[in-house]
Amino acid sequence: MAGVQSVDILIIGGGTAGLTAAIYAVRAGKSALILEAKAYGGQIVNTPDIENYPGMAHVSGFDFATGLYEQAIGLGAKLKYEKALSIEDNGKTKLVKTRRHTYECKAVILATGAKNRTLGLDREEQFTGSGVSYCATCDGSFFKGKTVAVNGGGNTAIEDALYLSDICEKVYVIHRRDEFRGDAADVEKMRARDNIEFILNANVTALIGDQKVEAIEVTDKNTGEKREVKVDGLFIAVGQVPDNIAFENVVELSSGYIAAGEDCKTATPGIFTAGDCRTKNVRQLTTAAADGAVAALAACAYIK
Ligand code: NAP
Repeated sequence: MAGVQSVDILIIGGGTAGLTAAIYAVRAGKSALILEAKAYGGQIVNTPDIENYPGMAHVSGFDFATGLYEQAIGLGAKLKYEKALSIEDNGKTKLVKTRRHTYECKAVILATGAKNRTLGLDREEQFTGSGVSYCATCDGSFFKGKTVAVNGGGNTAIEDALYLSDICEKVYVIHRRDEFRGDAADVEKMRARDNIEFILNANVTALIGDQKVEAIEVTDKNTGEKREVKVDGLFIAVGQVPDNIAFENVVELSSGYIAAGEDCKTATPGIFTAGDCRTKNVRQLTTAAADGAVAALAACAYIK
């Protein structure tokens, strides 16, 4: 087809799952192209210190992602910074369109990950970059010696709180329950820090400030009591939401996630999915990498 570029396996998303899929695809002798809308690496680039990836006691998310990217490209995978806008399923081949190009492939692997969930507060968007952040490693240094709050109780919030407590004077951890969802070992580390104060069973209900965040309103879930907490910044770490609506014509979505089991096969022949974007119970770096391998090998078998 004129003007259409062809590839064996087209991977949508250049995070851990997508890059791992590319490694397995090219090592199996297939051509692989990754389309990535933002930056390679996905969510893990924002993690300051990974302690739970087998064989690596400590590695920064950025170093991990860069190593993975270089490994995939070194083995012959291609990556283009383009957002996949649609997939057309033509049976044996699929057409994937971006704003400027159309790609034809024999199999697609959807590895779109997930994006940050917002709190939906008034002026949350306006204050993003002026006191509101979703990434402690990206923005933490702007708050050196200052007072910040982290909202959330998962691994991201806990890691953010630990990271920020090293550079900020004080860190409030605000969580809607009194138990944390994140790793117990890291919760203990957080509890041992002198400059971390917990506000539990509470939600952030308003952002206060003129041009930037100067304080937040925190509401106790049980009593309804509201208090104003003076902070220079609020780090929101309340989880991720999938972003797969563009592909709902070719795959089934369940609460926004792509429906697939551990075999990473969707109900559509030739369309596979890997990583945080698919229905699964455990969303970890290890399971994203595992999915990448499973999806790529399934795609290779399908092409044969
Ligand atoms: P998460 O595990 O889904 O946790 C989200 C947290 O935000 C939960 O504590 C949740 O409270 C809270 N929350 C959700 N919606 C909220 C709202 N509207 N208002 C207030 N609080 C809200 O998300 P995550 O921490 O970003 O982690 C995502 C995945 O990546 C997880 O599987 C995590 O283990 C993984 N991860 C792994 C690593 C690592 O391996 N080193 C690092 C970071 C993340 P409840 O607990 O009450 O539901």
